[in-house]
Amino acid sequence: MTRAEIVVDLAAIRDNVRTIAAFTGTPVMHVVKANGYGHGLLESARAGRAGGATWLGVAGVEEALALRAGGDSGPILAWLITASDDVAAAIGAGVDVAAYTVADLDRIAETGLTARVQLKLDTGLTRGGASRPDWTALFERARAGELDGSWKITGIWSHFVASEEPDETINDEQEKVFREGVDEARAAGLAPEVIHLANSAGALLRPSSRFDLVRIGIASYGLEPARGVSPIPLRPAMRVVAEVALVKDVPAGQGVSYNHRWVAPADTRVALVPVGYADGIPRAASNRADVAIYGGYRAPIRGTICMDQFVVDVFGEPTILVGDEVVLWGDPEQGVPSAQDWAEAAGTISYEVVTRIGGRLSRRYEDLGGDSREELA
Ligand SMILES: *Cc1c(COP(=O)(O)O)cnc(C)c1O
Repeated sequence: MTRAEIVVDLAAIRDNVRTIAAFTGTPVMHVVKANGYGHGLLESARAGRAGGATWLGVAGVEEALALRAGGDSGPILAWLITASDDVAAAIGAGVDVAAYTVADLDRIAETGLTARVQLKLDTGLTRGGASRPDWTALFERARAGELDGSWKITGIWSHFVASEEPDETINDEQEKVFREGVDEARAAGLAPEVIHLANSAGALLRPSSRFDLVRIGIASYGLEPARGVSPIPLRPAMRVVAEVALVKDVPAGQGVSYNHRWVAPADTRVALVPVGYADGIPRAASNRADVAIYGGYRAPIRGTICMDQFVVDVFGEPTILVGDEVVLWGDPEQGVPSAQDWAEAAGTISYEVVTRIGGRLSRRYEDLGGDSREELA
């Protein structure tokens, strides 16, 4: 092993996508934005395609172009395009581009290329997408552009506010408003190939939201949208490991790490883990998260997580030595902490834990098939 690395099990991504497609009975858009939620863009994309993902979803044009440069030739949607983005490059590469406004459509028309465009409707999230009072004008402009050959409207879609809380009535309201928008678009003469609304939690928890496609991000990587909500088992694809850099005895009353935010209540032994917040370890988990050493032995973090390192308590355990493997998070079935555990320790969500990890860690890929290779994170 190296001093610290991110190990990604591509078979887990493949299996999760396949399992979700079977469970939902719906084609899957595997979401690979943000470097595949920290798992690696191209590798995650290939694993998702191998699991049967019909579509790939990304936020930006750059991400979509990187997928094309990496050899992916299937359907891709890029949904967050800014004025300085090269929208013509995306269209030229056959990427479906999202449009939120008439101005977006005008800009697409200016490229002179025949685009594939997916209209995003804001059904209550109040983030991207067309606000309801603007739908009529958007649909009219969209249909006019189809008639003059500027584009084909390939999709109409929206995004949930609180899909991981299935009892929230906002989910029903959004779905109703979305159906009204789709009906209005059809009445305006549009005939989109795909209607889609659900992210992971919507797809898993709300069958009525599945429509033609489900956009699966976090669940593809084997993490639940929130603790305990998934009706099907998922296998976490990411394991973060490091080697013990030092062990030392600490006497009762001795403070540990910056500002001595932990003071040993009794004689103990601690181990030094050579990763820190510069690598994406959440500093907010100081004094709160655990790691596993030796496939299961739990060692709590003591004191403040620093830029390059942190200290864990091994309770005087004499068998833990320099060079031993520390698992920060991975598959809890293997007796190690989960990204969800770290999220709760740090007051955040597992999405943020996995997407922020990186820094100086290398990424290594494994597969049930046994091939593995290394690259710099
Ligand atoms: C990130 C994102 C998703 C995926 O959400 P998950 O909860 O990770 O499944 C789906 N759709 C949009 C628009 C997104 O931004």
